[in-house]
Amino acid sequence: MAIRLHFWGAARTVTGSSHHLECAGRQILLDCGLFQGRRQEAQEINTHLALPPAELPGLSAAVLSHAHIDHSGNLPGLIKQGYRGPIYTTPTTIDLCDPMLKDSAHIQEGDTEFMNRRRERRRMIGAPPGAQPFEPLYTQEDAEQVIQQMRPVNLHEPTLLAGSTRDEGFSISLSNAGHMLGSTCVFVEAAEHGQKTRLLFSGDVGRKDLLIIKDPDPAPAADYLIMESTYGNRLHQPPGPVKQKLAGLVKRVASRGGRIIVPAFAVERTQQLVMLLHQLTDEKLIPQLPIYVDSPLASKVTEVFRRHTEDWDAEITNLGSQGVDPFGWQQLHYTRTVQESKALNDLHVPFIVMSASGMCEAGRILHHLKNGVEDPRNLILITGYQAANTLGRKLVERMPEVNIFGEPMRVRAEVDSIGELSGHADQSELLAWMEPTVKTLKKVFLVHGEPLAQQALKEEIERHYGLEVVCPARGDRFEVA
Ligand SMILES: [Zn+2]
Repeated sequence: MAIRLHFWGAARTVTGSSHHLECAGRQILLDCGLFQGRRQEAQEINTHLALPPAELPGLSAAVLSHAHIDHSGNLPGLIKQGYRGPIYTTPTTIDLCDPMLKDSAHIQEGDTEFMNRRRERRRMIGAPPGAQPFEPLYTQEDAEQVIQQMRPVNLHEPTLLAGSTRDEGFSISLSNAGHMLGSTCVFVEAAEHGQKTRLLFSGDVGRKDLLIIKDPDPAPAADYLIMESTYGNRLHQPPGPVKQKLAGLVKRVASRGGRIIVPAFAVERTQQLVMLLHQLTDEKLIPQLPIYVDSPLASKVTEVFRRHTEDWDAEITNLGSQGVDPFGWQQLHYTRTVQESKALNDLHVPFIVMSASGMCEAGRILHHLKNGVEDPRNLILITGYQAANTLGRKLVERMPEVNIFGEPMRVRAEVDSIGELSGHADQSELLAWMEPTVKTLKKVFLVHGEPLAQQALKEEIERHYGLEVVCPARGDRFEVA
């Protein structure tokens, strides 16, 4: 018996997660994420789909590990290309994907409109016309169709995938990855003539003691492991002291009359920060200043967080049972309209604004940065991973000048980061997470990491566990048994 693995996305890079498996004539896709990075390269990769078009007709099922766009964001593209099969994932992930994929489609549509308008303006001043108008990668209707094709799977519930039988094809079981609300590791059993091979796809591995969500489940025993390696060469600060650090930053910036601009992923990071700021306010550890969540997407996602209490950890469950709303209090405002968002530009008192996108690639955060990046009283607070070539990465690397809306701007504001909230396991946490499955493993495939991180983690796994480790490139195929 044999399983063919085809690594198509998040291969030697962190975005565009997508892995194609084939066994006994059945084909499935694990994740179907959006590639993020340089505009043109991203456009090129994303329009060429999550897997080669020749393999699309044979695809019988897709499985989604979690809602982050770099894992889910090209599912609408798959639908646009004609995929009509089921997409298996947790009920929470389905509820999160609904606003997230529609938001992503909205961004795609907006980008395309912008490019077409620019081309039209150039044509009017005599530039040669382009062949065809640009088309969005996908539309809101495609995103809606993804939700229709999603099938809820509860944690630890073995599920036979469409088109498979017990003896031929694929079944899965999902476990808690502890990375974001609803996130999972996917345990796959591939069968041929009744013989089974076990493969574990880590999705994104989380960490112990993260706010709001429960700790990751131990890794189940498997023959092969496809594991993420985002922070394969880094060790995080423990999440504990983040509260004090945040309090210190807020006090310092407030006392010099500045504002804190937080590019925050609309999902998880925003809710974590809101909960922390709520605690700090209640405990009077920070001054009373207005706090804004300026992201319609984050507001919608917060509603999903409020609803899915079954995914809450003990701390937040305890708060909820005392009648406290962890995601709301007097000084916190969720802005809805563009006018409310713009009004923040004219606010001349210290305040905190959290806005998306988390890597500063699109969305309202760009307006806040444009208005605040040149004022040395302000703080730009980076709270999550910043992929190569994104504006967020340039800020983290403290480049003296950055382009915002095509305009060069000097970075005079203070830039700081809190890595403690990271939802990704670091090197030692990844090694500890995989430990329970090491005894049965025959090979490890590292994905979802930049080359330096992958190389470091590969060496550590070889050294600690004596396992064979491969870092596949995009398009690489392997046959395992
Ligand atoms: Zn993720």
